[in-house]
Amino acid sequence: MSSSTRIRIRRRRRTKIIATLGPASSTPEVLARLFQAGADVFRLNFSHGSHDDHALRFAMIRDLEKKFDRPIGILADVQGPKLRVGRFQAGRVQLQTGQAFRLDLSPMPGDVRRVQLPHPEIIRAASIGTNLLLDDGKLRLRVTRVREDHLETEVAVGGPLSDRKGVNVPDMVLPIPALTVKDREDLAFALEHGADYIGLSFVQRAEDVAEAKDIAAGRAWIMTKMEKPQALENLEEIIRLSDAVMVARGDLGVELPPEEVPLAQKRIVRAARQMGRPVVVATQMLESMISAPAPTRAEASDVATAVFDGADAVMLSAETAAGQYPFEAVNIMDRIIARVEQDEGWRRNIDSSRPEPERSTADAIAAAARQIAHTINASAICAFTSSGSTALRAARERPEAPILSLTPSAETARRLAVVWGVHAVIAPETHTMTETVNKATRTALSEGVSPHGSEIIVIAGVPFGQAGTTNALRVAHVK
Ligand code: PGA
Ligand code: MN
Repeated sequence: MSSSTRIRIRRRRRTKIIATLGPASSTPEVLARLFQAGADVFRLNFSHGSHDDHALRFAMIRDLEKKFDRPIGILADVQGPKLRVGRFQAGRVQLQTGQAFRLDLSPMPGDVRRVQLPHPEIIRAASIGTNLLLDDGKLRLRVTRVREDHLETEVAVGGPLSDRKGVNVPDMVLPIPALTVKDREDLAFALEHGADYIGLSFVQRAEDVAEAKDIAAGRAWIMTKMEKPQALENLEEIIRLSDAVMVARGDLGVELPPEEVPLAQKRIVRAARQMGRPVVVATQMLESMISAPAPTRAEASDVATAVFDGADAVMLSAETAAGQYPFEAVNIMDRIIARVEQDEGWRRNIDSSRPEPERSTADAIAAAARQIAHTINASAICAFTSSGSTALRAARERPEAPILSLTPSAETARRLAVVWGVHAVIAPETHTMTETVNKATRTALSEGVSPHGSEIIVIAGVPFGQAGTTNALRVAHVK
């Protein structure tokens, strides 16, 4: 496609949108519409679907990138050690509050007295009083007796329980690694197919992140899902090791009482912003849109809150994966974000929550770039980056001007699709300051980021092409 006929996609907002793909969104046409409606990143959920399904989606997304000539991020979300009960003779049972119920290791189909819990390590680690939450916390069992091969429990909150429902154990650090055998296979598959981010579920300790990073070995960035209360206890350490984080409010909301979730969300977003790690707010953002064409006003407010807090991205799950209104969901999210970001109160919030620069040259340059851009009303901050780090530090400042990020690496450009305020463009490496400034002004103009006659701020590392050297700043005029 020639550059004059090319459909230019440039978002009019800073906060990004992640859309989960599923049965409702698996054809090239649907993907193209989701992208045009505002999806910056697609999430493949490895809790569902076969490798063949996911391979097709990888291919469709990369085709879409070519079609629109825009980098698109792919988040491969691996399931992690999600605990589940076994099956029942009748498919489901009704548990009465106060009755006794046994969880054991026998694969025999269950009944109203017992069911399999195929996780011996959980049975061994439980103690009297441990709470087990079933089916997203709808039912609660309290352990009354621990035996070698089973747990006796009392039903604290009863209700219907059916085959393979999830089990959450908020009270304890589970003696299990964050990567199961299935996760390792999924991870290898996702890395092979060029995932940009790996979503790491049920992280409890920093070691869980370190292990995934070792396996990824730089081929993808690790996005740690914060969904265990135990992870909140090691929040700083876990975020520092992670490349990005997600406030995974689905499971977090099961493991924490509802009144704790908003505070945990704010704490995670603040800590991630402090460290300059991209942070995503996820789950139930527009939940009612799974079956309705418009969100509730409370949901609109929830999206707005994440934007006010300065999250890098907001995420849709079942709304786009399996809902009846996937395009409407992305479109409304796009509109809510764009509207909030026009508000002066939003800008004041972002400014007042800005973390101090760390004591590094890169941060000094990023902070100066924001300040100068503000003072002279520059139309863009143009960040040259190979690893993505210059763009991340510029984004950490949450400047008013958009961050136009030029990188020779397609992988870096895709990873930056998650990052607040960044419009990434793949461009060959430049070698002199003159060449760099010319490239920046031309691209700012051709991408529609900067008008003729405006000023841009160029930041880069000299010598060029060396990662982690941000040390130069220039103001340039867009002729
Ligand atoms: P999930 O993660 O959809 O994979 O469970 C998100 C969450 O728990 O919020
Ligand atoms: Mn989860």
